[in-house]
Amino acid sequence: MKNNCVFCAIAANEIPSFKVYEDDLVLAYLDINPFSKGHTLVIPKEHSSGLLDTPDETLAALVARVKKVASHLKAALPCDGFNILQNNGEAAGQTVMHIHFHIVPRYGKEDISFISQKGDMDELKALADRIRMEG
Ligand SMILES: [Zn+2]
Repeated sequence: MKNNCVFCAIAANEIPSFKVYEDDLVLAYLDINPFSKGHTLVIPKEHSSGLLDTPDETLAALVARVKKVASHLKAALPCDGFNILQNNGEAAGQTVMHIHFHIVPRYGKEDISFISQKGDMDELKALADRIRMEG
């Protein structure tokens, strides 16, 4: 595994994921321990650990993809709103040291805990198949 990084391995298809979107620069896939239904991670294929060591051009392109995927999720799930989270460092709750944006769909007035819940793999697969975007 390159860099010993699990997200690099996912980006290289060495580890399977419930893919929602992919292009040359980024991969978006369902978080297997979601905060809410449709919780999606958006990562650059190129490794950097967090916001501070990601080149500005990559970051700009990455945020544009976050917008694109979030816009799609809002219509395809559908959801009423969403949170964008981006954690930097263990102290901030970052568990994989490869920059990623969380898109956390929100439904009505439903309260969520922002604590990972073990996802149901069959449900995640069905959901990914239903909402997958063309690249
Ligand atoms: Zn990585």
